[in-house]
Amino acid sequence: MPADTQSDAKWAFDAYEAVRARLPHTTYPDAAKPVANLADIADEMDVFLLDAFGVLNIGETAISGAPERISDLQKAGKRVIVLSNAASIPKPVLLAKYARLGFDFTPENVLTSREVLLDALADKTLGHIGMMGLEAYGNEELEHLDFDFLGDDPATYEACDSFILMGAGQWNDARQTMLERALIAQPRPVFVGNPDIVAPREDGLSKEPGLFAHRLADATGVVPEFYGKPFAKGFDMALAKVGGIDPARIVMVGDTLHTDILGGQAAGIATALITAHGALKGIDANAAIQASGIVPHYIMPTT
Ligand SMILES: [Mg+2]
Repeated sequence: MPADTQSDAKWAFDAYEAVRARLPHTTYPDAAKPVANLADIADEMDVFLLDAFGVLNIGETAISGAPERISDLQKAGKRVIVLSNAASIPKPVLLAKYARLGFDFTPENVLTSREVLLDALADKTLGHIGMMGLEAYGNEELEHLDFDFLGDDPATYEACDSFILMGAGQWNDARQTMLERALIAQPRPVFVGNPDIVAPREDGLSKEPGLFAHRLADATGVVPEFYGKPFAKGFDMALAKVGGIDPARIVMVGDTLHTDILGGQAAGIATALITAHGALKGIDANAAIQASGIVPHYIMPTT
């Protein structure tokens, strides 16, 4: 992966375009309306679904002005819900992080793809699971699953009945090769809790589970089941929280065309693209919109 911001962003855009066939298909507005920030659309919206990375924070740092802007929306009576593809972190840890960054979110106003995935898995027969995840968090929120973390022993991969890809922070090419070899030898179900290909960190982009899931699909023919943006179930669960609101007055705010905007459009709600942080930082957002055909309702530099 290239190291500078501009080529990082271009690389990520191309990687998402390359897997477009596996993403939902939907329709888009003719043109995006430029506005300054979320305050400009507050009168038109009752509910804000906010992506986290690139909208609230970059890695462990809050985006300048974001805590104040979100607080203003909350004070104005708007429902603000974080809809994030952060799958590897237990919810109490995530809530503590948002509080540390200056945001005030209650547990019912944070919905991660970890919760979406676990909800989907509740009625599946998984057997013994191989887990791509962060061992530091152990089995918190996963106590009901029979799993081993996937490490450096090929026997672990061979012994699993199914695989869950939640977090790629400890993943590497050798482990990916072991997983692909195991799936080629014996195809088994793969469930992905974070469809993101990359995420913005302070020092550049990190590789996320979606990257490895699409790679293994290309290499093995096993098509993973994806949970999290841009796929429908997370949006369905978020919209169930607000019931009865006109979808035109609900907006998905995000920095990534192929997850936040594509998914929001597919869910039938309004969409707003952040361009100065995260996925599109350093590249021409309008060119990316034109090249992908993924057009948001609103475009704004910052939250
Ligand atoms: Mg993001």
